[in-house]
Amino acid sequence: MSTSVHANGVHRKHREPLPDAPEQIGAPPESSNPYKNALEQLDIAAQYLNLDPGIHEVLKHPERELTVNFPVKMENGTTRVFTGYRVQHNIARGPSKGGLRYSPRTDLDEVRALAMWMTWKCAIVNIPFGGAKGGVVCDPRALTPLELERLTRRYASEISIVIGEHTDIPAPDMGTNAQTMAWVMDTISMARGHTAPAVVTGKPIAIGGSEGRSDATGRGIVCIALEVIKEFGLKMDGLRVAVQGFGNVGGVAARIFHEAGAKVVAVSDALGGRYDENGLDIPRLIQYANRDGSLSEQPIGEAIGAKELLELDVDVLVPAAIENQITAENAARIKAKIVIEGANGPTTPTADHILRERGIFLVPDVLANAGGVVVSYFEWVQDLQCFFWDEAEVNEKMQAIMRRSYRDVRQMSLDKKVDMRLAAYLIGVKRVADAALIRGIFP
Ligand code: NAD
Repeated sequence: MSTSVHANGVHRKHREPLPDAPEQIGAPPESSNPYKNALEQLDIAAQYLNLDPGIHEVLKHPERELTVNFPVKMENGTTRVFTGYRVQHNIARGPSKGGLRYSPRTDLDEVRALAMWMTWKCAIVNIPFGGAKGGVVCDPRALTPLELERLTRRYASEISIVIGEHTDIPAPDMGTNAQTMAWVMDTISMARGHTAPAVVTGKPIAIGGSEGRSDATGRGIVCIALEVIKEFGLKMDGLRVAVQGFGNVGGVAARIFHEAGAKVVAVSDALGGRYDENGLDIPRLIQYANRDGSLSEQPIGEAIGAKELLELDVDVLVPAAIENQITAENAARIKAKIVIEGANGPTTPTADHILRERGIFLVPDVLANAGGVVVSYFEWVQDLQCFFWDEAEVNEKMQAIMRRSYRDVRQMSLDKKVDMRLAAYLIGVKRVADAALIRGIFP
């Protein structure tokens, strides 16, 4: 049996439960509503921090929510109305920052949760942003490139009343990419009559994007993994890794793990995945996925389901797709020693409790996937200064922030004898609460 790292730093046999801090006893009832789960996580931290009830109440509510219903002329001549959102959770520490999600399943509560998680994430890695998120209810794969461009430009125009380089700065998330950001930036620039690169991040390099941004979230995950495995006495060489989600986060993380010498034994996308006990040829899978779409039909390794992948006996599991993947239903069957959350909200609070009981070491989303927003911060700084850095400098600065943040959170978890999610929240929520208190309540 392998050793794992106890919350108090003592190496011990894997599977022994971590001791519960008083606040961590008892699993909360399961919910698949991400906003309910985000509130639950905040409540646990607020109780532990003995947060002022007024400030707690402020932090429970997004500051501003915009819903837009807007028409798009489709290529077949019909007109369709789409619904989009932009939610700004908190701006106590700076302008709000957060991605745009295009998904048929998105709704206001999901966007609220994602906005709140952005607030904590920016505070945990200590960059001067608050949290926001946006979304459009649509299936981007079912739209033509022209329809996608029209939808993006109209949505950008609709939310232009609340976004801007000093107010709220969007970036890519699920279903959107650098091209989407280019359309948003161009739309805002056309309305203003001048080029406004800093209004979004995650843009193509040609128009003020940052070197290293497209790999940043995946690279940050591997950087965190390196910190964790050192404590576990594991090595990157031959490390058994499974990654759920093969997009900007999961695909890049799988590639960088592979380049670093890890054995990536399974990867999956929405339609299924591939498994090879001896390690998959990730560069070839990326080539296939770029060419043919889904992984499920690729002639490499064996087929595996996206849910089945989560239960593999691996050293490191990276859920990097969507919310609510590790739940009360499957948490008891997770065999990974270490879970590093690439996606936002992949583990429900009930499942968190079960994993903790089972001694599984989890690095939470608000820390693990922050590499993307850190390099988005660098992109914003570069755009505002019109002075650009090379990729080595970007990667080095991002990894320094990720390592420092990991160590801060780890130390908090050891000092307070709590799991890594609560430790991260104790740092993030406190920084935001302190900023709100120092600023005071207007008027
Ligand atoms: P993406 O659209 O590039 O890729 C998403 C991947 O997940 C795709 O491979 C898709 O097929 C897969 N997927 C979708 N539904 C699935 C399901 N039910 N089961 C298994 N796989 C499924 O999105 P992304 O940018 O990689 O984002 C993934 C997650 O990471 C999201 O939770 C997002 O909020 C989070 N995140 C993204 C960034 C970023 O910089 N893009 C930063 C931090 C966090």
